Amino acid sequence: MTNEDDAVKGSAATAAGAGWRFDNSYVRLPETFYKKQNPAPVRAPAIVALNEPLARSLGLDADALRGELGAASLAGNRVPEGAEPLAQAYAGHQFGHFNMLGDGRALLLGEHLAPQGERVDIQLKGSGRTPFSRGGDGRAALGPMLREYIISEAMHALGIPTTRSLAVTSTGQPVVREEELPGAVLTRVAASHIRVGTFQYASQWGTVDDLRALTVYALRRHFPGGASEENLALALLQETIRRQARLIAQWQLVGFIHGVMNTDNMAISGETIDYGPCAFMDVYDPATVFSSIDRQGRYAYGNQPPIAAWNLARLAEALLPLLDADEDRAIELAEDALGTFPGQYRRHWLEGMRAKLGLGNEEPEDEALIEELLEQMHKAQADYTNTFRALTLGRPEETAMAGTEAFESWLARWNARRGRQEEAEDAVRERMRAANPAVIPRNHRVEEALEAAVGGDLGPMERLLAALANPYAYAPEQEPYALPPQPSGRRYRTYCGT
Ligand code: AMP
Ligand code: MG
Repeated sequence: MTNEDDAVKGSAATAAGAGWRFDNSYVRLPETFYKKQNPAPVRAPAIVALNEPLARSLGLDADALRGELGAASLAGNRVPEGAEPLAQAYAGHQFGHFNMLGDGRALLLGEHLAPQGERVDIQLKGSGRTPFSRGGDGRAALGPMLREYIISEAMHALGIPTTRSLAVTSTGQPVVREEELPGAVLTRVAASHIRVGTFQYASQWGTVDDLRALTVYALRRHFPGGASEENLALALLQETIRRQARLIAQWQLVGFIHGVMNTDNMAISGETIDYGPCAFMDVYDPATVFSSIDRQGRYAYGNQPPIAAWNLARLAEALLPLLDADEDRAIELAEDALGTFPGQYRRHWLEGMRAKLGLGNEEPEDEALIEELLEQMHKAQADYTNTFRALTLGRPEETAMAGTEAFESWLARWNARRGRQEEAEDAVRERMRAANPAVIPRNHRVEEALEAAVGGDLGPMERLLAALANPYAYAPEQEPYALPPQPSGRRYRTYCGT
């Protein structure tokens, strides 16, 4: 036996030491849904970020992941025991245009069973070319992968359903974009990667049996209760609508702009997925767009709810053959389900806005009170997060509207409205603190942290992550992260093809 054999044997033992427990159900779907593919090895794997709390909650040993063999598996240089890497097939409407897509630079390693039995996808993003890569190189740059790590973890801390980031591993290889950039692989953890676009793919290129298999699979995996429903496709559609209505309301309430709400970037699980050109809004303006390629503002802040409804309509279309054998009846069922989206969304949004203003009960005038505040914020170019932060801290004089007659009148009405609640002022403040983050991942702070990290200094990113880990703490040390950008920093742009 050579030393090399020893090393291989050793690696298997240590791999088990990391605590992976793979049980891969996706490979049991019809073969049309994926292509088996191993990751392409990289030159010099090195862990840049490792999410220790997440590792722990998944039953994984962070020290083993940090070790040479752990890093090798997170970079795609070795396949952990039990993993069966595959590229998922999916389609999608990109800016309204239907395309065949698929994992062009990502691979599902498999599904890991966490200690409580929870099943999560472990995906490598940036792990090399796949049969779906088209012209792409299958790779990712370090900056954008760290960006996904920061923002997805911030979303999680904000209490918003999202995929998580377990690790970012640098590859020691450059990727060529407009310039040469250091390459990296992100390890993404998700309830699943089934998208609206996966159903569109099945509907366009699969058989009705394939579509049914995917529907049953998605229901079992995400909505176990729905699997006993008579009409499985309808149960899936209704539940997906329900989760998206809640998710999009949560985005709106914190000022999150996804940036590329293509149907392939909408997960059936109801998690936020695919952190490309996303960013948080500073100044309140429904027309806010950060993505450089979104010239029409299709995915502007204020358009996110109707775009979500549009995407859900594409899901309904894909499911039509299963909704009812009679096409007219199928369309009727789809329309009835889709028709509930605006009301569900509005209900979640109003509930969230009431909490942001400290209101624990409902009055008919609330909507007008909320809308008027937003209108004044828009006119005054007020910072979205910090306006609610100032109201939470009882410092309305710190908002951009302070001193205007309109705002004084609004404040008087808001105070009177809160006065009609039979609740102690403390309880009201508590509610506001729990609904209004004191810190969000401000674009200028994220950029500054990424620039330092890509240059080799991880300090600023680690401090930013620490501030974002508890956004409702209102801790004094978080204050520097709450400052909005200088006016010159406002014309922030994000880029796709990251
Ligand atoms: P995204 O904009 O990340 O949602 O990706 C849209 C599509 O482009 C997906 O099918 C990706 O897999 C694919 N894609 C993005 N970047 C690359 C790349 N560097 N190489 C190959 N495929 C890619
Ligand atoms: Mg995508």
